[in-house]
Amino acid sequence: MPHSSLASTADRSHRDRTTPVVCLDADNTLWDTDGVFAAAQLRLLANVITATGIDMAKEDRLAYVREIDQELASRHHLGLRYPARLLIAALCHRLLGDEPDVAARKTWKDPSTIPLAKEVAEEIEKQYLSDLSVAPKLLPGVRTGLERLHDADAILVLVTEGGRDRVETLLQANKIDRYIDRVIDAPKRKELFVRLRRLFGSNVPVYMIGDQITRDIQPAAEAGLRTIHVEGKFRPIWEVGASAPTTHEASTFEDAANAVLARA
Ligand SMILES: [Mg+2]
Repeated sequence: MPHSSLASTADRSHRDRTTPVVCLDADNTLWDTDGVFAAAQLRLLANVITATGIDMAKEDRLAYVREIDQELASRHHLGLRYPARLLIAALCHRLLGDEPDVAARKTWKDPSTIPLAKEVAEEIEKQYLSDLSVAPKLLPGVRTGLERLHDADAILVLVTEGGRDRVETLLQANKIDRYIDRVIDAPKRKELFVRLRRLFGSNVPVYMIGDQITRDIQPAAEAGLRTIHVEGKFRPIWEVGASAPTTHEASTFEDAANAVLARA
């Protein structure tokens, strides 16, 4: 992140210094990334069941995949971005009767010991990656909320760890790119938010709107931003029981935008 790119966002505005700066999370705050994952994970499970011939129909299928997914993610240095073939392997172990933690551990030891031909596993992985490449849809209230903030002259800064190109493509696909003043692709640590606050000046209210307590709310709150938590459907294992000094709890993005405009 070049320093000049941030500075130009601050300079570019010839606006009232008290109009807010609003930092936004993207995935599961603006658009339904969780919905794309859910559809892909359900198809992956269905394909593994077909390929192995082992079914357990009475289970909540999404919860069944996600239990394994979280076990793998919490053990892998890439977190939720671990390779998909590990999920296929661990699901095989699970279908064969292992508990989720045992299935994940076995997969770690040797991902190749599964009752699937290599080509079949590769085909399932290919389908999964293709399902994950579908563009997620905007969440309810996002378009209205962004419009309202934009009309109020707020500077909107999208803060993501999901890759600038991907996020810019999705902003365009959902036709909301014109509302966003700047995209910042950087780890959401306290230091980043401290820098953003310093950049816009101490008189300017700076907000952070996001769905994850540990990634969005906590570091922003520690840096002194006003934080608005929008409850998402997706709660990873590391979020359960997490809490932070949230300035405002919102049920939708529109609700969050209204809270900013009401100076929550
Ligand atoms: Mg998010």
